[in-house]
Amino acid sequence: LFSVQAGAPWEHDGLKFFGLSLSGIRTSIAMPEFSLAFDVAQGYPFALNLKKFFLTHGHLDHVAGVPYIISQKAMVSQPPGDFYMPSSLVEPLHQIMKIWMEVEKHEYKYQFHPLGADDEIELNQSHYMKAFPTVHRIDSLGYTLFNRRKKLKPELRGLSEPQLKALKDSGAEIQDTFDAPLVSFTGDTQIEFLDSRPWIKKSKILIVEATYVDDKKSVEHAKKWGHTHINEIIPRLNDIESEKIVLIHLSSRYSTQQALQALQAKIPAAHRERVILFPGR
Ligand SMILES: [Zn+2]
Repeated sequence: LFSVQAGAPWEHDGLKFFGLSLSGIRTSIAMPEFSLAFDVAQGYPFALNLKKFFLTHGHLDHVAGVPYIISQKAMVSQPPGDFYMPSSLVEPLHQIMKIWMEVEKHEYKYQFHPLGADDEIELNQSHYMKAFPTVHRIDSLGYTLFNRRKKLKPELRGLSEPQLKALKDSGAEIQDTFDAPLVSFTGDTQIEFLDSRPWIKKSKILIVEATYVDDKKSVEHAKKWGHTHINEIIPRLNDIESEKIVLIHLSSRYSTQQALQALQAKIPAAHRERVILFPGR
């Protein structure tokens, strides 16, 4: 159990993460190798050159930076970024951009893409993003980064190249497809997201909000505000197959040190090595 240092990247099995997350203040976590970020907070320098932005919901601490990122990209003549978001957020963000364009007397180019649960966005030949439902006070989505591998069907292994090509040309499927969930990112949500899709608990890395980590705030309080309490995650730890469970969106009432102490006291020893606290300040 440890906390990633603010401003430092965190890496597991070749997957790199960089960013900050603190409840009500800021949440933006980038995966630079994929040129993407989950949420954009107020629009930080590390996100300005990324290409794809997956927004979980419309609260300002998660998406206030959208107009800023659009304007910064325009200023250095970068192609406009792609912003993916729950469908109901598209029109309000268009309105915000419209007003800002009037204020600045400048026309911006940008792409807002409406998403619903289970929609998939291709990132490259072997990776795609898939949205899953989360439960918050406003429309919200979580996202899973999947790795897709294709392998020749075992029963076809002895065939020659021309034979395989002939088979393929005849319309036969010659490969098996394997989809592995690498990273699931929740944004703000109640614990119910965990059972909303079967792959979430199997993600290699689960990045999950845990706003409250001690008993001064109750599970009921967390639910009332659409959040998750560590007391709801702990009984599910045996269920969660992830190699790493990254806690984000800590309440600003805790210092990092206080949060680590509270987590150390609560999380059973067998799971402590899997749990990481992501920094927010
Ligand atoms: Zn929120």
